[in-house]
Amino acid sequence: MYWNQDLETMSPEALSALQLGRLRRTLFQAVESPHYSKVFAENGVKPDRIETIADVHRLPYTTKEDLRDQFPYGLLCVDQKEIIRLHSSSGTSGQATVVFHSRSDIENWADLVSRCMYMTGVRQDDVFQNLTGYGLFTGGLGFHYGGERLGTLTIPSGTGNTKRQILLMQQFGTTVIHLIPSYAMRLMQVMEDMGVNPRRDLKLRIAFLGAEPHSEEIRQRVERYFGVEAFNSYGLSEMNGPGVAFECPEKEGMHIWEDAFLVEIIDPDTLEPLPPGEEGELVLTTLSREAMPIIRYRTNDLTRILPGKCRCGRVHSRLDRIIGRTDDMLIIKGVNIFPVQVEQALMEIPEVGQNYLIILERVDEMDTMRLQVEMRADIFQEDMRHLKKLQNKITRELRNELLVTPKVELVQPNTLPRSQGKAVRVEDRRK
Ligand code: AMP
Ligand code: ZN
Repeated sequence: MYWNQDLETMSPEALSALQLGRLRRTLFQAVESPHYSKVFAENGVKPDRIETIADVHRLPYTTKEDLRDQFPYGLLCVDQKEIIRLHSSSGTSGQATVVFHSRSDIENWADLVSRCMYMTGVRQDDVFQNLTGYGLFTGGLGFHYGGERLGTLTIPSGTGNTKRQILLMQQFGTTVIHLIPSYAMRLMQVMEDMGVNPRRDLKLRIAFLGAEPHSEEIRQRVERYFGVEAFNSYGLSEMNGPGVAFECPEKEGMHIWEDAFLVEIIDPDTLEPLPPGEEGELVLTTLSREAMPIIRYRTNDLTRILPGKCRCGRVHSRLDRIIGRTDDMLIIKGVNIFPVQVEQALMEIPEVGQNYLIILERVDEMDTMRLQVEMRADIFQEDMRHLKKLQNKITRELRNELLVTPKVELVQPNTLPRSQGKAVRVEDRRK
């Protein structure tokens, strides 16, 4: 049941002691980098003065800008000959950031991913198909080495060529898949077009959904359609990639592996720490990274720590579903909206299909939100009056959920643009 019972179920006291030791070691290591040696000197940080975990609050934050400014080698703490791989973030918002890994970093990372996979029930006799990008993106290689370390047959099928993906599933009897949620929706569509019924024709039993914000409703759609248990997988390239936080079979929040990461939630405006239960920005410190430790990294991701203990017996805190990034928030007529809230409301409507796009425009000096929604194909066989009624229903549901009234357009399946990697849900035409 546990991949590493000692680490997963240790007492809170033992976990704190482990964290403290690792935090101190991390700080001694970090100071070897040009960036932290300067920042620690400026802020009077002395690694040997860290006496309790709470002392972490005295350390300076690290931001994405710091990583960009120090590109490429400014945070490296080891000799160049010690590093064996680099990964880079998607870089959708400006210069990409890069993270370097030593051999032990890569091994620790793979072990964390195996721990996540094992926790959900993956075993050696499973067949794991990894439908995510291999390359700089961490989802491909991250899960690949996790699957191999666990000992499951791992198929590096990558992204795209959806028909071939389905063929591979049939040929090798794939039981476990990893994919980003927007691609899961695409896969559904293609299976439907091909007349493949996954519950009847495939052996799938577990799906990992990660790398993108997605709603509970999307999980449920995936579970119903593919006949699987779907688990939320959270990670970011600055903290390795996948394997940071993952759902256990209880599916009540994602356990964040606190032996490897120190977790804080802060108020993104005041930068003050927030207690469990309160929503804020997730801040993470690596505790076992050698080549490139990162201290108090502001992830920009908004979530909260779920109070209380998990029934599965693991001691590690649980993160709630990520509601979005601080820079994802849309402000329409004074109301704050995250794209995932739109998704949640939409996907609860059975006639809604697999894709949607939020378009922001300025009409008469007012910010407005237009929503294009792909519908199920059969909807368009109905008459105009029926379509109009449906359109009004969707508008009403969204208004109830979001407190603003979007302009809703119903479109045919497969008509909205699809991105190569992570889905682009918002098109801002106001600029
Ligand atoms: P990257 O480093 O380019 O792989 O991007 C990492 C970012 O993807 C995170 O900071 C989150 O904003 C987002 N992300 C990753 N996993 C999830 C998840 N399970 N739910 C929501 N957002 C996620
Ligand atoms: Zn649990």
